[in-house]
Amino acid sequence: MLEVERPRLGCRRAVRVGGAVVGGVRPLLIAGPCSVEPGYVEHALALAAVGADALRAGIFKPRTHPDSFQGMGLEALPLLLEAGRRTGLPLISEVLSADDAEALGDCVDGYQVGARNMQNYRLLEALGDIGRPVVLKRGFSATIDEWVAASEYIRRRGNDDVVLCERGIRTFETRTRNTLDISAVVVARELTDLPVIVDPSHAAGRREWVPALAMAALAAGADGLLVEAHPSPAQAWSDGQQAISLDVLAGLVTATRQPR
Ligand code: PEP
Ligand code: MN
Repeated sequence: MLEVERPRLGCRRAVRVGGAVVGGVRPLLIAGPCSVEPGYVEHALALAAVGADALRAGIFKPRTHPDSFQGMGLEALPLLLEAGRRTGLPLISEVLSADDAEALGDCVDGYQVGARNMQNYRLLEALGDIGRPVVLKRGFSATIDEWVAASEYIRRRGNDDVVLCERGIRTFETRTRNTLDISAVVVARELTDLPVIVDPSHAAGRREWVPALAMAALAAGADGLLVEAHPSPAQAWSDGQQAISLDVLAGLVTATRQPR
């Protein structure tokens, strides 16, 4: 039998997002709808009941086409506050600009920088100055070195609470939404002391494929998963085709709690 060195968890810089730890002894499961919708508080309660560790809480959405739903924006702040208060879970929300981060104020525990903004250096520096944890997605055409270099823009401003997130890259393949680069987990964990998590949802593009990619990520040593999940995936306002149901999420909860 081929002997593969088992990925070691718990030897990373541990990044605390609210009461959750990324880079600790077990992988963290961040789950939630693609975008916050009017039913978000109920969604959040359902995800918490299943066992999510932290919640996706995007109210500003970077959509490829301007006609697509752009997120609820600041109108959704009361939903974030209520979801955080009632679930007790940390909220991670995508920001497209420093102004977005300021507008979110203390309503969120961590920021997400999306693939399209990985090299928005002024944004990265601003988040470095703010000092809250940042989930930095890999740009879909960025090399691993460019991704790690982008993380340095946050760190050089004194904020080491950065989590790298592989979400698939653009290749010649068109069956999947993106090509999940599993090797990036292994390589980025070797190059940096930062925790590395995987978003299998934006890689797969279809909910049927998400569990297999998630398991592959965990097997490669990912420090967590960022997954789109929705109590009624078909009704989701964005990316419903790749949102997993609560039943499937329950399987990932079990997987992230297995001793490794
Ligand atoms: C997201 O996670 O909501 C998102 C927009 O993903 P990405 O930046 O990876 O496309
Ligand atoms: Mn999405």
